[in-house]
Parts: sequence; C-alpha cells; structure tokens
Amino acid sequence: MSATDLGAWSESVPARVVEAVATARTALVVSHENPDADTLGAALAVATLVEAHGGRATPVCSDPVPALYAFLPGIDAFRTDPDPTLAYDRLVIVDCGSLDRVGPVRDRHRRLFASLDRVVIDHHLSNEADRPTDWIDPSAAATCEMVALLADRLGIPLGSADGALATALMAGIVMDTATFAHPNATPRTLAVSAALVEAGAPLSDISRRLYRSKPDVQLRLFGRVLDRLDHLDDGRVLWSSLTEADLAATGTGAEHSEGIIDLLAQAERAEVVILFKEQGSATRISVRTKPGGVDATVLAGAFGGGGHARAAGATVDQPLEAAREVVLAQARRLAGSVAR
Ligand code: 5GP
Ligand code: MN
Repeated sequence: MSATDLGAWSESVPARVVEAVATARTALVVSHENPDADTLGAALAVATLVEAHGGRATPVCSDPVPALYAFLPGIDAFRTDPDPTLAYDRLVIVDCGSLDRVGPVRDRHRRLFASLDRVVIDHHLSNEADRPTDWIDPSAAATCEMVALLADRLGIPLGSADGALATALMAGIVMDTATFAHPNATPRTLAVSAALVEAGAPLSDISRRLYRSKPDVQLRLFGRVLDRLDHLDDGRVLWSSLTEADLAATGTGAEHSEGIIDLLAQAERAEVVILFKEQGSATRISVRTKPGGVDATVLAGAFGGGGHARAAGATVDQPLEAAREVVLAQARRLAGSVAR
C-alpha cells in the first residue's frame, strides 16, 4: 500500500508551469545567492525533472556551494555561471522572493536572463513575481514542497535518479521547517515528506547533516556570538553580532554562521531576535519573530529585504554599529506594539 497519493494537491500546480518545465530543452535553473538546502535542492530537482523529459539543465548559483551541502547527490553540477556552450531556451528561478536575490550572476548575464522564457517557483510571502509562469505559494513550507508536487504532476516518480530527486527535495523541506519544527509545516508538507521517505529519502540522515553535524571551529564561532548576546526592553528584543574578526579568530567562513540565529531564536521572551553579521561596510541581518507577533518581513522590508512572517533577512547598507542602531530602533517599535 502506498502511504501517500499527492494527486489531490498536485492538481493545483499551474498548467503553464507544468508545460514550461516539460517542454524545456535546455534549462538554466537558478538558485538564490547565499544558498541554502531549499534553493539548492529545488534547483537540482527541477534539473532532474527537465532531464527526465529528455531536456538538459544547468543548475546555477552566484555563490560557491557551501561544504554543508556537499552531501546532496549531483551537487557538483552547480556552476556559478551558465554554460557558454549551451543554447538555453528556459530560465527557471527557484526560492527567490525578489529577482535581486539571484545575485551577481544575473548582472553578469543580464541579456540572457531577460531574453529567456521565465518560470519562477517560490514560497516567499514577499515576492515580486508578476507573470503567468511565476508560481508563488506562500502556504508551502519550502520551494521543494512545491517541486515535489510538480514532479507528481509531470508523472515523474519521486524515486527517480537513484534517489537523488527525493533526497534533494527532502533536504529543502528539512531545512525550511527545521525538521518539521516550524509552524510552516502543514499536513501537505507532511504528506509530501511521507511520499519522499517512501521514495527513499534518508530523512534522519539529512536532518543530522543539516543541523547536527558541524566542524569544531563552527561551534567555537557559535560560542563567541552567543556570549555576546544582548537585549532591550525586558528581553522583548534580543540580538547578537558576528564580526569579521570572529571569523578570522575561529578560522571559519561566512557560511558557518548558518544555525546561530536558530539558537538565538530559542530565547523564551523575545518577540524579535536579530543576528547582525558584519560584511565589509555593509551588515546582513537575520530576523526571527514569535508566532502571533511581529511580521519579520516588515522589519526586514524596512531595509530592503524580505522573507517569511517568522523568518526574514536583509542587507543593510551601513557598517555594523550604525546598522544595529537603526534596526534595533525599528525592532523596538514593532515589538512594543505586540500585545500578549
Ligand atoms: P536567513 O535569516 O536564514 O538568512 O533568511 C531567512 C529568510 O529570509 C529566508 O527565507 C530567506 O530567503 C529570506 N531572506 C534572507 N535574506 C534576504 C534578503 O536580503 N532579501 C529577501 N528578499 N529575503 C531574504
Ligand atoms: Mn525556501
């Protein structure tokens, strides 16, 4: 007996998106910069779907793939730029709420990006998509949840590609739900995940690799940042900062900051939790908020960023201390208006 039939859900995949992916002969499949498992897994999976229909596909990400994701089967196929020897006929962008999130590769290939028929597959609440082949579903926990439904609609078994498809999709869902701990995990997320596990996705191994498998130097970095924890307004706003000096002192790279915000977000009383990350003369912020409270996209949006109601981010065009001042002022205002 099959545990799950996704048919009732996959019917909702827009027909134009199904057709655009099924008919792609040579697809450029693009992730967002500072990639995570959802954008990487979704791009690998879309590439597999195109190939299953006899096409070719190049997964592309502006940034090199962090070592954390090296376990994803087929990850070596990622390039930082399109393959100049291929004549692309389709552009598929995954997990990007804003096209700017694609990063520098879009600036380097503006004409190519603008000339191709485009499909966007994304689950961000704040999204700039505006075409019939832009498929945005903020009720999806992960873009990979959407791509699993697309696979089902295309009639491509989730167990295809020696398990690579199921593993890629499961990794994105595990990442964006923190292994089903966030409120974005719905019955549909669980049904899709059941189908993926049934198709061979190693769920617990993926969760361990993404969340409980870190080099020692990364744990030392976490220690420094946690030790610097600070708060305002009786703990309703809580934050910490990660400097370039921290990276140098611990021998870590910027990608090793992944996971710190999840620890900070465990703060019991905080309505708004922020991690400030020094990035030259700019500052990256990661924002997490409590259910029923501040909309994280409002805070991140005030600084040109976006994301989801409970998790958002932005790049503030000011050095660390100045960024901290303006962002904390906004955060206090927003947290102050939450009545509990
Ligand atoms: P994180 O804090 O983990 O980097 O990001 C949290 C969420 O916010 C993710 O869903 C991510 O896609 C989104 N996000 C992070 N940074 C940005 C940004 O600069 N712009 C937009 N639009 N979304 C972002
Ligand atoms: Mn995502």
